[in-house]
Formats: sequence, C-alpha cells, structure tokens
Amino acid sequence: MKRQIIFFFLFSFVNQKIFSFTLLSPNPPRYTTGEVYVDFTNDSCSQTGFSPQYLFNLMEESINQFWNKVSSARLLLLKGDFVDVSSAGLDPSSLAAEARGNRILVGCNDAVAAFASGGVVAVGTMGQFDGETKGSIIINDHANSEFSTLSDDKIRALLAHELGHALGLGHSENVSALMYYSLGSKIQEKMSQDDYDALTYLYPHNPRLMGLGGSCGTISFDHSKEGEAKWYQSYFLLALLPLLMALLLRPLF
Ligand SMILES: [Zn+2]
Repeated sequence: MKRQIIFFFLFSFVNQKIFSFTLLSPNPPRYTTGEVYVDFTNDSCSQTGFSPQYLFNLMEESINQFWNKVSSARLLLLKGDFVDVSSAGLDPSSLAAEARGNRILVGCNDAVAAFASGGVVAVGTMGQFDGETKGSIIINDHANSEFSTLSDDKIRALLAHELGHALGLGHSENVSALMYYSLGSKIQEKMSQDDYDALTYLYPHNPRLMGLGGSCGTISFDHSKEGEAKWYQSYFLLALLPLLMALLLRPLF
C-alpha cells in the first residue's frame, strides 16, 4: 500500500504543473490572419540610445529567434513597415488602436507612467479595436530609461517578451520561460516548452484539436492574480487512476 501511495503522489505532482502560461485576458481576441506584420512608428527613440532603424532590425531578429520557431502554431510574424504614426503621449492601448488590422505597432515614448522608474524598459498589449485585432509595444524613451544600457541579446529577448503580450499572452510562473515576468536576472536565448504551449494554445493549426484537448481535463480561470487568467490543468481524476488501479489489482498479487 505504501508503494501505491508514493506512486500516487509522484504521479499527481507530474500532472499538476503541465501549464504555467497565462493569457493577457480570459479570452483574448486572436489575430485572424496567418501572417501578422510588425510595423514601427516614426518616433525618434532618442533616449533609448538606438536609432529606430536599428531597433526595427533587432525586432526582426527577435521574431526569427523566438516566436517564429513555434512550428506547432499557425502564426507567422513578419517585419512590416515604418508608418506615419507617432506614439507621443499614448499608452499601449491607445497605440494599439492606431495599428492597422491584424498588425502590431511598435513605438518609443515617455508617456507611460511606469516608465518614470527607468527599469521598466518596454510594455506590450493587444485588443479588439473597430472589430479588428491589433497590438502594440512601447519602448521606454524616458530620460531615466535604462534601455540604453541593454545588450542586443537582452533587447531581442525583451522585444520577444513584449511581442508575447501583443499576441495575447500573460506571464508564466516558469522561470525558464520567455514569458516569465522578469528577464533581468537571466540569459534568454530561446523559449521554453511553456512558451511553445502558450502560442500553440492561442494559435493552433487545427482548432478542433484544441477542442478535444480541452475536454480531457478541467480548465478554469483564476482572476485573483494581477488581472490575468491563470491556467489550471490538474488532471486530478487522471492522477487518481493509478491509485484506483493499484487497489483493484491488489488481490491479484
Ligand atoms: Zn511582461
């Protein structure tokens, strides 16, 4: 009996934390095109220490280093255009509203309240505007911005993190994930399985597969944490199965 109980707890542990990723909102809108372009505003980005062209090139490298590696998702990110839009004075949601449909707009400004601390180097979001899904990323162009101290590797990783938000993802509890809330203390050269699972969940190749997957376990949202949806896929009944089987088969041994 002791062995069965240990087996039960081990099995439960393995199944408790399959997903750590969260979503930006309980049911974020999805981009409806397979290809999503990332455009850049005409902001000067003078306090970031980089030219807009340089940042745009880093964005393209970031796209190919991170999210475009997820072949299990239908989404393909592409470098777009410089557009004649300024993000001056806009918060992330207001800038997203300025994006073209099914596209993400990136700009630099000092208007986001959190940028005053300097350590918040960028923010990303997405939403539904005029019936179309649009996203935005704003890079901290405040005089205190620590963006200028970052290496190219770090910038590629943080742009990919903000792109994750612009695609509809929240933070992950998995410290190895790109979508972990902080990139400051680690080197992030690639994504974790949790990031792959997150994007594949939002943008599956075949939606019917997700329907089948969703029926296998209990899924609920917990709104208590930072307004983000939290995933629980505990497979509790599945975890009980080995214990029940052990009890049923015990008379045979
Ligand atoms: Zn974040």
